[in-house]
Amino acid sequence: MSRDTNMAHLHPVFRQKVELLLQDLLSAQLPFKVFEGFRSPERQRDLFNQGRSRPGARVTNADAWSSMHQYGVAADFVLYIDGKWSWDDTGERKKWWQQLHKLADKQQLQPLSWELPHLQMQGINLAQLQRGNYPQNGDNDWAENLQQAITGWSGLPTAPPIPIEAPTRPPLPAATEADNRTLPRTTITANKARVTARDGLRLRAGPGTSFDIKTTLVSGQQVNVLGQSGDWSQVDLQGDGLADGYCHSGYLAME
Ligand SMILES: [Zn+2]
Repeated sequence: MSRDTNMAHLHPVFRQKVELLLQDLLSAQLPFKVFEGFRSPERQRDLFNQGRSRPGARVTNADAWSSMHQYGVAADFVLYIDGKWSWDDTGERKKWWQQLHKLADKQQLQPLSWELPHLQMQGINLAQLQRGNYPQNGDNDWAENLQQAITGWSGLPTAPPIPIEAPTRPPLPAATEADNRTLPRTTITANKARVTARDGLRLRAGPGTSFDIKTTLVSGQQVNVLGQSGDWSQVDLQGDGLADGYCHSGYLAME
């Protein structure tokens, strides 16, 4: 659970502000560097436990998924002098930290009153992040890293939803709609099935819950199953031999 200073793991909007601040710090000859950017929920839990379930001084009030660091919208800036990190804020150095916060304010980066090195994206609400309402214009780098943190977390509190920017693998070529169009229709041997889900069954654009929902099929509705992809059935609703999307096979009863 080492520190992460990878800029790619920060949300791109925040990342840009951090990079501009680093440039300003360099121009002002203030020796601050990013000590930590993204922080995994496991590392957050470990830091939270310090001074609670294990000995040591308390270093954070935030448990897993309760720090902006888990969402890539916070970074800690610490003095780096002669190859050593320094949290010294006495004497002359007190002014340096004040200058850090002044330059940060210019980039709309917000400090925490109780944590000198911490800067986070302004106007972000933790409860919104926990519900999966992430800042707009995320990119694959940020989203994929967050996705890995989410899928790797199994404890409480529950991990937030996966960001929509997370890359999804396209279905295998054999399972695509375009491919089926090239087949002569007479060769398609569709099997009829009925929807058994009481509350209806989601028809998705691809074989997985990460694909967009196209519509919801009603209970008892008849569909033609064109093929299988893992636990998912490719279905045709009109009976014209063309695929309309995918449903989870567990809620389809073959006829
Ligand atoms: Zn921090």
